[in-house]
Amino acid sequence: MEPAFALQKATKRYRRADGSWNAALEEVDLEFRPGESVAVIGPSGAGKTTLFRLLSLTLRPDEGRVLVDGADPAELGGRALRRLRSRTATIHQQHNLIPSLRAVHNILAGRLAVWSFPRALLSLALPREVRRAAEAAEKVGLLDKLWERTDRLSGGEQQRVAAARAIVQNARHILADEPVASVDPSRADALITLLRRMSEEDGKTLIVNLHDVPLALRHFPRIVGLHANGVLFDLPPKAIEEGLLAYLYEEEEASAMEARGWINKAAAPGRGS
Ligand code: ADP
Repeated sequence: MEPAFALQKATKRYRRADGSWNAALEEVDLEFRPGESVAVIGPSGAGKTTLFRLLSLTLRPDEGRVLVDGADPAELGGRALRRLRSRTATIHQQHNLIPSLRAVHNILAGRLAVWSFPRALLSLALPREVRRAAEAAEKVGLLDKLWERTDRLSGGEQQRVAAARAIVQNARHILADEPVASVDPSRADALITLLRRMSEEDGKTLIVNLHDVPLALRHFPRIVGLHANGVLFDLPPKAIEEGLLAYLYEEEEASAMEARGWINKAAAPGRGS
C-alpha cells in the first residue's frame, strides 16, 4: 500500500534577515502509513511546523519530494491539487475558526475543502448538512453547544469544534499542529484521546506535533524526534530513554523539562563528569 505521506530527501530553506539561507529541514526521508498515529516532538526551531506545512501541501520543498497517497503534488494543478489537499484535515493551534460564527457553521466549513464556495455557503442552511454537523459535534462531546457563537466557547471547546470540522471534512489524514497548546492538562489529555479515537475508529492517519513530551509518549505508538533540521530518532515510546530526550532538547531545554518533572537530568549522557 502507498504511504499516506512520504518525504523523499525533502529540503526546505528560509532566507534569514541577513540574506543567508537556513535549512529548516535538510534531505529528510520519512514515511507515514495510512491509518497510523504518530507524534512529532522536538525543540523549538527543529522544523516541526515546516514539516507540517510540507505535509499539508501549503509549502513546497526546495529539493526532494513530498508525496500524498503516492501522488506528487508538483505534478498536479487546479482541481486535482485541491482534491489531494482535501484528503488532509488540519487542526491548528489557532484553530482557524471564525469567532463570530456559530459552532455549527465553523464545523460545516470543513465542507469548503471539498465543495465550491457557493455550494458550501448554500449547504450551511441544508438540514442534511446540519445533521452531519450535529453528528460530528456529538462525537466530540459538543452537541449542546452546536448553536453557540464560537467566541463564547472555551479554548478546549473551540479545539473540539476544530476536531468536529475535521470529521465533516471526511479527510483520510489528520494533521494537528500543537493542538493542545492553549488547553489545560486534563483537557489536553481528553483532546488527544479524542483524536486517537477518531483515527482508530475511522482508520485515519493522525500526525500530531506536540510540545508536551509525556503526553506524546502516553498516547502514540510511534514518536519522531526532530532535531536541528533532521530526524534524530523514529521509535516506539518504550524505546526512548531519558538520555535521548535530554539530548533532543539539549541543555537549557533539558533543564526546563527537569523543572517540570518530565525527566531526571542525571540520566542524560555525558553530564556531571
Ligand atoms: P518548529 O516548529 O520546530 O519550532 P519551524 O519549522 O517553525 O520549527 O522552524 C524551523 C527553522 O526555520 C527555525 O530556525 C526557524 O527560525 C526557521 N523558519 C521557520 N519559518 C520561517 C520563515 N517564514 N522565515 C524564515 N525562517 C523561518
